[in-house]
Amino acid sequence: MDFEKYDVIVVGGGPAGCITGEHIKNHKVLIIEEHSTIGVPLQCAGLISKRGVEELGNPQGVVNKIKGAYIYSKNKNIKIGNEEIRAYVFERKIMDKDIAKRTSKKVDFLLKAHGKLIETSNNFKKNKGGVWNNLNNLLKESKGNNYSLLINHMGETYRVNPKIIVGADGVKSSIGRSASIPMNREILSGAQIELINVDVDDDFVYVFLDKSYCRDFFIWIIPMGKDRARVGLCDSSNAYNKLINFINNHPIASQMLKNAIPVEFSVGALPLGYLKNTVKGNLLLVGDAAGQVKPISGGGLYYGAKSAKICGKIIDEYLMEDKYDLKYLKNYESLWKREIGGEIDFGIKFRSILKKMNNDNIDKLLEFVIDSEFIEHIVKKGDMDNPSKVLRDILKGFLGNIF
Ligand SMILES: Cc1cc2nc3c(=O)[nH]c(=O)nc-3n(C[C@H](O)[C@H](O)[C@H](O)COP(=O)(O)OP(=O)(O)OC[C@H]3O[C@@H](n4cnc5c(N)ncnc54)[C@H](O)[C@@H]3O)c2cc1C
Repeated sequence: MDFEKYDVIVVGGGPAGCITGEHIKNHKVLIIEEHSTIGVPLQCAGLISKRGVEELGNPQGVVNKIKGAYIYSKNKNIKIGNEEIRAYVFERKIMDKDIAKRTSKKVDFLLKAHGKLIETSNNFKKNKGGVWNNLNNLLKESKGNNYSLLINHMGETYRVNPKIIVGADGVKSSIGRSASIPMNREILSGAQIELINVDVDDDFVYVFLDKSYCRDFFIWIIPMGKDRARVGLCDSSNAYNKLINFINNHPIASQMLKNAIPVEFSVGALPLGYLKNTVKGNLLLVGDAAGQVKPISGGGLYYGAKSAKICGKIIDEYLMEDKYDLKYLKNYESLWKREIGGEIDFGIKFRSILKKMNNDNIDKLLEFVIDSEFIEHIVKKGDMDNPSKVLRDILKGFLGNIF
């Protein structure tokens, strides 16, 4: 395979990697994916806002439409929503493949290809005018690129030297780590089971905020249609055992799920908090690798898609203009932070307040929402992707009243 013909190599064939590649419109891009199938293994509940679906380019794979949420604390519950459709539930395997199919019109893919970042200077002799290999062949004009890639594909290892490398390699981002980009953020582990034969209201998602079942996040039931749902949780530890305990013992959920049969099990991880540095030399990080995830809900698809578009556009501009040096790529970082940084910062603060609350406090919070008629306000102004406005109003009222 002629790797040297590519200007950009994107490591990771998830939604963020594909959408980045799709938006590098005027240059040769290769996406490498270590798995043999796009969209597998599943690590997602598949709930996406209407706006998020548009940002992802209206992919295939919708299995259900959602009109709102039931929120349960230990002793209280509220229902938020009306007849309006607010979100969609996706089968990620179908969605990811459809996004990849769209992207493949402009971009090449290589499956079963693992990318490893290496520092160019360790492996190539740098000369004034460019980068040279051991046989003294000029590999490319130097713009001061710092990183190259080792690609392992079907037992062979190739050393490649694209102008730009994108790390779209998910929450663990070995690419970001290899560049010594500080990964200081909270990581929660998640577990999820798809169940059939469930007895749920399939128009609404269920959210459980109950510290006796899940200490640091929440539990969800996301209906996938009439009698099918994903039940999952994220927490600091022991996600699988906590999920089984919830399914078997939660007084409300155990009734809804009493005849349920598991058909798919998945695990995953959530990054909470974004990286300060998402650009280093000729390397850019995007999606979960960069921490572009909503800290309150764990949703990463909308923010990831939004940032991937910016990432692709800035790379394209950089490659078009000889006059730009690598510093131009930093525009990606300032632009994506301008779009979603404020919401993520608010989400982290909101989470730290929720983390400190016990079940009594959370009951009181729901009681406050019911008594102060905030439900109508949430229905009218609530925004899954930008929740800070409404949550700030609620917190202001609640914390003022209680503390
Ligand atoms: C339990 C759970 C539930 C979630 N539910 C939702 C939800 O309902 N809604 C929502 O919006 N978000 C949800 N998320 C978050 C969402 O799944 C992620 O934000 C999203 O998948 C991130 O996309 P990505 O492209 O950045 O990374 P990924 O989808 O993780 O893709 C990264 C890809 O890179 C590949 N890769 C990694 N390393 C290498 C390498 N070295 N070489 C080659 N390939 C490599 C991986 O195989 C993978 O395919 C959930 C997450 C979890 C854990």
